[in-house]
Amino acid sequence: MVERKKVAVVGGGVSGLAAAKAFDERGHRVVGFERSHDFGGVWELSRSYPDVQTQSPKDLYCYTDHPMPDDYPEWPKGPQVHAYLHSYAEKHDLHRLFRLNTNVKSMDRRTDGAPGWTLTLEAGSHIWTEDFDFVAIGTGQFSDKNIITHPGQDGFEAAGGQVMHSSEYTDPETVKDKRVVVLGGSKSATDIAVNAVNCGAAAVHWVYLEPMWRVPYFVGGINFKRLLYMRAQEQQFNAWGKNGFQRIIAAIFKPLVWVNFRGLETLLKTQLGLKKYGLVPKTPIEKEVSCSVPIVTPGLFEALKDGKIRNIQGTFERYDGNTIHMTGGEEVQADIAILAVGWKLGVPYLPHAYLDKLVESDGQYRTYRLAVNPDLPDMGFVGFNSSFCTILSAEMIANWLVRYADGQLADQPDAAQMNADIDMMLNWKRNERPAAQIYGGLCSAPFHFKHFDELLADMGAKKRKRSNPLAEQFSYPNHKAYGEFLASCPQYQAG
Ligand SMILES: Cc1cc2nc3c(=O)[nH]c(=O)nc-3n(C[C@H](O)[C@H](O)[C@H](O)COP(=O)(O)OP(=O)(O)OC[C@H]3O[C@@H](n4cnc5c(N)ncnc54)[C@H](O)[C@@H]3O)c2cc1C
Repeated sequence: MVERKKVAVVGGGVSGLAAAKAFDERGHRVVGFERSHDFGGVWELSRSYPDVQTQSPKDLYCYTDHPMPDDYPEWPKGPQVHAYLHSYAEKHDLHRLFRLNTNVKSMDRRTDGAPGWTLTLEAGSHIWTEDFDFVAIGTGQFSDKNIITHPGQDGFEAAGGQVMHSSEYTDPETVKDKRVVVLGGSKSATDIAVNAVNCGAAAVHWVYLEPMWRVPYFVGGINFKRLLYMRAQEQQFNAWGKNGFQRIIAAIFKPLVWVNFRGLETLLKTQLGLKKYGLVPKTPIEKEVSCSVPIVTPGLFEALKDGKIRNIQGTFERYDGNTIHMTGGEEVQADIAILAVGWKLGVPYLPHAYLDKLVESDGQYRTYRLAVNPDLPDMGFVGFNSSFCTILSAEMIANWLVRYADGQLADQPDAAQMNADIDMMLNWKRNERPAAQIYGGLCSAPFHFKHFDELLADMGAKKRKRSNPLAEQFSYPNHKAYGEFLASCPQYQAG
């Protein structure tokens, strides 16, 4: 008999909702904490810049039992994703489980001798502690802004200039008739640059350190989901845990794989005109693909062509009055600098003694299946296995985590097995696939199928692949099929 636990879920975004549903469904007593006034995480309206839209197509960005509405576009806008997450919470009555406006300040092992953690919670001026048997953490990778400054910022602001983090750019009126400089190489930077053009900015400069491969929504006229999310495509990247036979096969096919990726690069260079704008990356595309590879913002290359966005490689060196000096020697007159420089990865409410066990000195996380650490019992992460289809990844790992917590995995690992696997994965990331070190190693892309295969095997799923082998090999991860695979896992109830 599985004992009913009191489970804290931290965060009310995609992952927190998945975790709350998975633990609630098994009969646990779930209490969710979300520090904001609303669900949604990165999709919560007051945190989103205008025109934000998904990178993933809508059927790759949904829970297994809840497709996005038919009338949504292929790549939904931020408010649509936000409404979708609310509809998921309503469908499963998840609101009843959450306390909004409640921040988890810190957590520590329980002092009453029972397993689990004591959370210190904060709502307004009220601070209290509460004990839990298990903690599922879904606070994501985009919760704490990365704040950077450059010399002379005070003077720039004193001269009437504005400096803001990308998440603070929520009102397009801010940029009207203004000279805007956007710093950052990610999709949020190019989204904001294009939005600024469309919203009447007087001039827009886009500054980035290095060109990186960007994938357009349509590659050679074909929706990228039909090309880049396939098991067949995934097998061309150097995955972990290959046995001798698989290594020999990989060596035989290496020239073909090389040709395939050079073909893809040529297609992207030609379609986007990368050379013309000095935007050809130095790294081969197969070495770069990970969660940080951005999708091309619609309108970016058109705006570059028309001179409405000017791109500069480098970064800010300093501000001088209204001028921003770049490291390459360029000088740009600006009224607003928007810093799309990302977020600080971390679990700031976890004491240092535990963080030291979780994060290695080079920033890599020690997690088994990107979810648990054997030295941190009674807790696990949901959504730290981010991907190109993070909602599905979060749901898969949430279902895995509840079974792990209950000792119900078909293959329940002990600490030694987990540590051996963690060390193998860290070695692979550091020596064979450096791109997998992005975000502290917390990214399962582009190995969606392999990661899900492992989770389903651990859970004892009877069905792990679609019956049509062609669809399985040449089509993207299908949310409905994964719903069936999850339903084929042994079911149980706590309590
Ligand atoms: C602009 C943008 C576009 C994206 N597009 C895609 C896409 O197309 N496809 C894709 O797969 N991924 C995409 N992502 C990645 C995205 O982060 C994930 O898809 C997903 O939304 C992450 O959800 P999450 O719940 O793990 O984290 P978050 O959405 O960050 O939610 C974490 C929640 O935890 C809360 N929280 C944090 N700390 C505490 C605390 N101490 N106490 C209580 N609550 C706390 C936060 O307030 C937040 O609500 C995108 C990200 C961004 C920023």
